[in-house]
Amino acid sequence: MSAKIIDGKQIAEEIRSELKTEVAELKKQNITPGLGVILVGEDPASQSYVTAKERACENIGIYSDDNRLSAETSQKELLTLVEKMNADPKINGILVQLPLPKHIDEAAVLLAIDPLKDVDGFHPMSVGKMMIGEETFLPCTPHGIVQLLLRSGVETEGAHVVVVGRSNIVGKPIANMLLQKKKGANATVTLCHTRTKDLASFTRQADIIIAASGWPNTITPDMVKEGVVIIDVGVNRVDDASKKRGYRLVGDVDFEGVKEKAAFITPVPGGVGPMTITMLLYNTVLSAKRANIQ
Ligand code: NAP
Repeated sequence: MSAKIIDGKQIAEEIRSELKTEVAELKKQNITPGLGVILVGEDPASQSYVTAKERACENIGIYSDDNRLSAETSQKELLTLVEKMNADPKINGILVQLPLPKHIDEAAVLLAIDPLKDVDGFHPMSVGKMMIGEETFLPCTPHGIVQLLLRSGVETEGAHVVVVGRSNIVGKPIANMLLQKKKGANATVTLCHTRTKDLASFTRQADIIIAASGWPNTITPDMVKEGVVIIDVGVNRVDDASKKRGYRLVGDVDFEGVKEKAAFITPVPGGVGPMTITMLLYNTVLSAKRANIQ
């Protein structure tokens, strides 16, 4: 058997085109969703993420207020900007690109964002609401994974999902979202990490594996059962002299080997990656609707 590829690019396109239609409808009612973007410092990866987010906004008609600040920006200055955006009715979502420079307390900045504009879903209020299953903003990467599963027709209800990785941005929230008592969830979830004894004994029982370890080949063919569904969140650079830039991107899963046993698998790149920005756009449009339509 060779797995069906879950095409994240295509599913992301599908959702973006739905959002574009929705934004056009909102504009007829004089509502333009707005995203405030804050980048502190010159980290090249962060710069390219932020540029991609701004382009994506423009593409579907979301207004974006871009703020690129020097690495020397003080915490006070940053908090003042966040407060300004909290009060600005043109801004429905606030995105502070992480990581922040060392002298700034990330938790204090996330806490300062109005939870009604917390489109990244990282504010403790949003995290708490997600945990108890109340309506909120879902964090973008895990929400993207749920959409990939739903739109590929993968049944999560009653499935045993094994999540590898317990970070606050991927592992913990996706584990939480999939065990909620609702459609697109209702799974039995096992959450593994570096202190897990015998990882393979868990992954071999999995109907669905969500790999978010940040290391290539964390999941190899001997660790999975026939017919497993694989969501590979990892984005890792490995040296590759045949590429002009000297490296290529791979996930956390041995794609070539595992795809022979899996029923569905996401590629890297082109799987989870394109979904993250898409769900940020989704949250921004949702926030504009919540703010303007009763
Ligand atoms: P992270 O903060 O580094 O967390 C990695 C987690 O994996 C930790 O909980 C760690 O356990 C666990 N882990 C590492 N090696 C393991 C192993 N061999 N067995 C079991 N558990 C292991 O990473 P992250 O921020 O969640 O990101 C994970 C990957 O996803 C990275 O490659 C990142 O680039 C990628 N990512 C992609 C997107 C996207 O949009 N596609 C978004 C976010 C992240 P401990 O807690 O015990 O250390």
